Amino acid sequence: MSDTFVVVGGDAAGMAAASKAKRDDPDLDVVVFEKGEWVSYGACGLPYYVKGEIQSLDHLVSVTPEEFREERDVDLRTGHEVVAIDPDDRTVTAESDDGEVVQSYDHLLIATGAAATVPPIAGTDREGVYTLGSMSDGKELREYVARARGGESLQQPDRGPACQYLETCTGPVGIVGGGYIGIEMAEALAANGFEVHLFQRGDAVLTGFSDATSEAVADHLREQDVVLYLDAEVEELAGEDEIEAVVTADDRVPVDMALLGTGVRPRTALAEDAGIEIGETGAIATDAYRETSAPDVYAAGDCAESTHVVTGEPAYVPLALTANRHGRAVGQTVAGTPTEGGGIAGTAAVKAFDVEAARTGLVGPRAARTAGFDPVTETITAKSRAGYYPEGGTVTVTLTADRDSGRLLGASLVSEYGEGAVHRSHAIVGAITEGATVADLENYDLAYAPPFNTTWDPVLVAAKVLS
Ligand code: FAD
Repeated sequence: MSDTFVVVGGDAAGMAAASKAKRDDPDLDVVVFEKGEWVSYGACGLPYYVKGEIQSLDHLVSVTPEEFREERDVDLRTGHEVVAIDPDDRTVTAESDDGEVVQSYDHLLIATGAAATVPPIAGTDREGVYTLGSMSDGKELREYVARARGGESLQQPDRGPACQYLETCTGPVGIVGGGYIGIEMAEALAANGFEVHLFQRGDAVLTGFSDATSEAVADHLREQDVVLYLDAEVEELAGEDEIEAVVTADDRVPVDMALLGTGVRPRTALAEDAGIEIGETGAIATDAYRETSAPDVYAAGDCAESTHVVTGEPAYVPLALTANRHGRAVGQTVAGTPTEGGGIAGTAAVKAFDVEAARTGLVGPRAARTAGFDPVTETITAKSRAGYYPEGGTVTVTLTADRDSGRLLGASLVSEYGEGAVHRSHAIVGAITEGATVADLENYDLAYAPPFNTTWDPVLVAAKVLS
């Protein structure tokens, strides 16, 4: 009899695992339980759906439930929420409108993802307070935008914040949190004519990027008429039934709507209830093969820890590539070829209106010192293309290295959108992952041609300055 591989959660990690396992071992019975109606969707595209650049939620789906069932022979059960795992009996219990099912497994993957956090402040349950963690959240937000605009879609990609050319703005609206979702949504809402107020509790947006990157992004948000409140701990979302104002220690800002972009937390309840070990990051602990403390039970994606390539320690950075890669590795392991899936460098990118930014590794002295290094950091700004080339801008690169060994630890880059901060970060990701030194990076044979960079690419300039 063939083995049964059960997957809990039908998005990036879960469906990557299911597809890979079935492809490598067609005899395997693969059963996926997904509590929602959507599978294999790109939540990363939701801000652009709300903005209006992507017309339908269906466009965010890479493989439909029908394709999984009919073409990939995966027993996909949408509308099924797994409510218990019994590692001793090797079963999971799922609930649906049709009742309860108990499904046995030989191999199990927990791929339950992460949930948008709701901060412990008054008023988060008022009407008009949103999060953006799921497809249905995206749908609700787009409906809100359409309602607030009287059904009219305003978004015109080439024209920037609509408030800059409209006689009256819509809103105002408040965004709580200056991370990548808050910033992407500031762009999405501004493009639709909303007056946007963004509240960040620390003194910089984009925590985890360099000061230079955060400042460049903050300056650009202000240029785009986003009203930015730094060091602004939100104390209350005030109002009667509906939200009326965002309240901080210093301000009471009237708003018609508030979006909480305050981070995510891993969905670990199922694992915890099953006695599976949770790591110190708060996500499910796994070994290099993503196997949890329970035999033949794996965890991958936003619910699980990874290992940081610089520190070698457990790290929790919930991003899409890790979910896909670790899910795929689990699928391959279950199908008979043990596969690790690799560590993470915490590489992330964000577009903020007409600016792009990337970060990787341990950025800045504080993160490096916390990990036990004696860091040196340098920031340079250089032209993004040859000076005589008709287009171009600048790239600002911050590199952090270990003083004694010269080992490259982290980087943060920012440029105008299209001027290559994000693509340039990839060379640095390679260097960091391989444990290269700054001197090694300085000698990298990067491509050069005037429309793309200068002879000495800004990454090489930064390495030269730091070495
Ligand atoms: P999820 O995508 O969260 O999927 C988990 C699935 O499990 C869900 O479908 C859920 O319904 C299901 N589930 C949970 N519990 C149960 C249960 N008990 N029973 C059955 N089913 C269950 N990442 C990037 O790398 N770049 C980006 O630009 C980026 N942008 C993003 C923008 C937004 C707005 C959001 C929300 C996320 C973004 N991400 C981005 C993060 C990225 O989407 C996630 O890292 C990725 O989706 C994680 O995949 P996953 O499969 O681990 O979890």
